[in-house]
Amino acid sequence: MKVLFVGDGQLGQMLGASGISHGHECLLYSTRSHEVKPLSAQVSLSWTLAEAIGWADVVSWEHEAIPADIIAAAHDKFLMDPARIKSLTDRRAEKKLFDDCRVGTSPWQSFGTPAELEKILQQTTQPLVIKAARGGYDGKGQWRFRPGDAIADCVAEAGKEPGIAEHLIPFEKEVSMVGARGKDGSVCCYPLITNVHTQGILSYSLAGIETVPDTLQRQAEEAFHRLTDALNYVGVFAIEFFVVGEGEQAQLLINEVAPRVHNSGHWSMSGANCSQFDLHMRALTGMPFPELRIEPTLMLNVIGAKQIPVGLWHHQDAQCHWYNKEPRPGRKVGHVNIRTANLDTAQTWVQQWAEKLQFLG
Ligand code: ATP
Ligand code: MG
Repeated sequence: MKVLFVGDGQLGQMLGASGISHGHECLLYSTRSHEVKPLSAQVSLSWTLAEAIGWADVVSWEHEAIPADIIAAAHDKFLMDPARIKSLTDRRAEKKLFDDCRVGTSPWQSFGTPAELEKILQQTTQPLVIKAARGGYDGKGQWRFRPGDAIADCVAEAGKEPGIAEHLIPFEKEVSMVGARGKDGSVCCYPLITNVHTQGILSYSLAGIETVPDTLQRQAEEAFHRLTDALNYVGVFAIEFFVVGEGEQAQLLINEVAPRVHNSGHWSMSGANCSQFDLHMRALTGMPFPELRIEPTLMLNVIGAKQIPVGLWHHQDAQCHWYNKEPRPGRKVGHVNIRTANLDTAQTWVQQWAEKLQFLG
């Protein structure tokens, strides 16, 4: 099968690599330079977008901000409605989807103007997180507000663009569910993964290391079914949750979704019999999903570092991925998957390596 991926970043590269290993042909389309590219080489083909779309059997994406011209030109090559997927880049549409699907999320209100935000801040008795409707990632485009804070200052910053204001959740921890839905509606999910963020950026994920209560796994899978059914989704889909309450009382609240492969699924390249990229390719090509088996794995992001130290490249328990991107503080430039027996050894790895691999700025 011939697959054209929208986007030429690391997710597109890793999807393409999986596609090739399954015997498919893959091209990437850069939405920044508007060039059609082969995998792995920073060169462009002389093909136009229309030629690449004509060549492809299927068009998929590494990011959901799919340009309107591709949606129009390739509409019949997508396996679902691409405009619906693109609409999720707006947090108001995303939160409405959660409400429509009756999956629990932090209570929220939307605002379109500074005056509307001001009114929300005047009336709140709760600490809030204000998020720009569009364009936020890695904690950017977010502001915190507590009753008593200066309203005018907050409105001046956070009210510049439309957005949402939601309750600040005092969570126990953050987890995510990564899974895939096939063309026939079949679904296949990994166990919940624990994610630790620093300054709003994913620092590391723990997969298969902490015990996941059955009740939370069931809740997460239920949310996965509801959301992906509502979207008639085909491919890998990720859901970020807050865990609130402890023990028997623990509940999930959905934070956000990523209609694509996701950073919190990168551990699966080393820690599962089928990676998230392989699952996505299986979904696109109608290949059945396997029964998933996983090994305890730590995924440590490489953020803003100039390189991955040679000691890690040579370490028998580490698998390094370098994205060949110009390092900047706060920019994800690679990740390292580490086979690790338990939480103690995972935390030792994090203590030893995070400060050498992560420069947040
Ligand atoms: P990503 O890079 O995952 O797309 P993002 O910048 O789009 O991130 P969020 O995932 O919404 O935005 O927020 C980043 C982090 O900020 C969350 O992982 C969480 O740690 C914190 N956060 C966001 N919303 C809330 C909230 N309502 N209550 C408490 N913490 C929050
Ligand atoms: Mg997030």
